[in-house]
Amino acid sequence: MTGEPLREHVVRQYSDHVNPYLAKLMQFAGFGVEVEAEGMYLTDQNGDRYLDFLGGYGVFSLGHRPRSVIDAVRDQLEKQTLSGKTFFNPVMAEAAARLAEITPAGLEYTFFSNSGAEAVEAALKFAKAATKRTGIVSTMGGYHGKTIGALSATGREKFRAPFEPLMPGVSFVPFGDESAMASAITDETAAVIVETVQGEGGVHVAPEGYLRAIRSRCDETGSLMIVDEVQTGFGRTGAMFGCDHEGVRPDIMTLAKALGGGVMPIGATLGTAEVWEKVFSVNPLAHTSTFGGNPLACAAAIASINAVQDQALPANAAARGNQLMSALLEKTAHLDLVAEVRGQGLLVGVEFNQDEVGELVIAQMVKRGVIAAYTLNNPRVIRMEPPLIVSEQEIEKASDVFAEAVQETSEILAAFA
Ligand SMILES: *Cc1c(COP(=O)(O)O)cnc(C)c1O
Repeated sequence: MTGEPLREHVVRQYSDHVNPYLAKLMQFAGFGVEVEAEGMYLTDQNGDRYLDFLGGYGVFSLGHRPRSVIDAVRDQLEKQTLSGKTFFNPVMAEAAARLAEITPAGLEYTFFSNSGAEAVEAALKFAKAATKRTGIVSTMGGYHGKTIGALSATGREKFRAPFEPLMPGVSFVPFGDESAMASAITDETAAVIVETVQGEGGVHVAPEGYLRAIRSRCDETGSLMIVDEVQTGFGRTGAMFGCDHEGVRPDIMTLAKALGGGVMPIGATLGTAEVWEKVFSVNPLAHTSTFGGNPLACAAAIASINAVQDQALPANAAARGNQLMSALLEKTAHLDLVAEVRGQGLLVGVEFNQDEVGELVIAQMVKRGVIAAYTLNNPRVIRMEPPLIVSEQEIEKASDVFAEAVQETSEILAAFA
């Protein structure tokens, strides 16, 4: 089955067996069925190709189906798939050693899981066990996942309200406000959890000095600093990790999305020797995961880290990100719907000065063959997070399409005004 019959069939299955409300939303945005993907492009049921400027919200930093990661996973598939969990797992050991090499000094140990939310769950547990405290300070608009623990630290009322009460002891401060953060961190605080750029929250970059200020306040109070780099990790912001921009060393770091190279799901929680000693010395099995650290996912992680380094993707993200932001600004300067363009590296947000505009612009972009991200919770902001392998020409193309989409949207709105 291909073409329209395939689309109808899949939409019906979504409506009958997956999530009818989501199906309606996706249809409204004009999304088709993903059938194949390669490099910068997704192919739909009609064989039409789309330039992917969403990149799976940061998963596809290496593009779709990167050859070296596929080969590494295929080789591993022929040796061993999941871990037996009794003998030493050499692939996991190698992945942990590689992570220790590329992350800020002091982050020496890794616990592997299968997703971003799981990485955050482990981070929160480790912080509590290591400090014997219960307070967690998080930020409004912060996104850390939707399992109960991670949701407890996620600063979005809309996601939290239906599931309360959540984990107690979590307080929220405005993102970027140093003094609010300093007063929220006390000697009862186990940890602060913070992103270096709020992605889901609408692309807000931490102001200069913010992460350093959190670091020093944590040192004063004996609290731990958790940096959630699930989305910003592996070059996305133009440095290998978001916290590298400020030379800040967290006590705990969470990673996922791009770590599996867009081929395997994997999450990682890194920590210092002090944290590990307090969590695992009494009980080496204090935190475990059946699938976490499996050889297939770890083979993908090793190959991905190599690819990010070999292709100097952090530097490409910095250069292409600057190009994208200036192109978006320049090409929409005459269009008053655009309120602001902001971002860091290839994590870029465009804020419009009216609600509803975001989804209309996304639909117009899809019509013209470019995919970008829109969040229901932030209807004024769309996000662009292309694979870090994106070329100069592809940035030009996507920014042209964006400008056309905004132009068309303002004409549509004017017709209804
Ligand atoms: C996506 C994301 C998560 C959650 O990851 P999942 O794999 O969806 O559970 C957590 N933190 C940040 C910063 C994220 O962007």
